[in-house]
Amino acid sequence: MNKRVEQAINDQIQAELYSAYLYLAMAAYAEDQNLSGFANWMSKQAGEEQAHALKLYHHVIERGGRVVLQGIDAPPADYGTALEMFQEVYIHEQKVTSLIHALYEVALEEKDYAAQSMLTWFIDEQVEEEASASEIVAQLEMVGNKPQGLLMLDRALASR
Ligand code: MG
Repeated sequence: MNKRVEQAINDQIQAELYSAYLYLAMAAYAEDQNLSGFANWMSKQAGEEQAHALKLYHHVIERGGRVVLQGIDAPPADYGTALEMFQEVYIHEQKVTSLIHALYEVALEEKDYAAQSMLTWFIDEQVEEEASASEIVAQLEMVGNKPQGLLMLDRALASR
């Protein structure tokens, strides 16, 4: 497969695995705050990010390319309030969206139609990721400092 596309997908595999690591760190932080519903949402999200990495991994393998895994940075340990944590999720997903768009650009420039087709799934997925993060941010803003509201939201996120 095209070497430039292969390299860019390898970079995205690293970004997706960092996302998984970030959300797992957020899950651990939420557990420490006794917010097990938030922790559940985060650990499910970590699983999805791992699945994203594997989707890219299998694409490279199927195309006869070479997957080379890169180092993953340690995520932060502390995330402040639930609102601050979800604001960070939203900002992170916006960043991932721009990475996916840049990767799609590379596939366009290199006329890699198979990679373009595979990446449209990621483009659609990012619309959902941003929408669900921004909805939870808005709900946390509504709740404000009221513990009852926070606990209700925690219950709701426990069933993701
Ligand atoms: Mg992802």
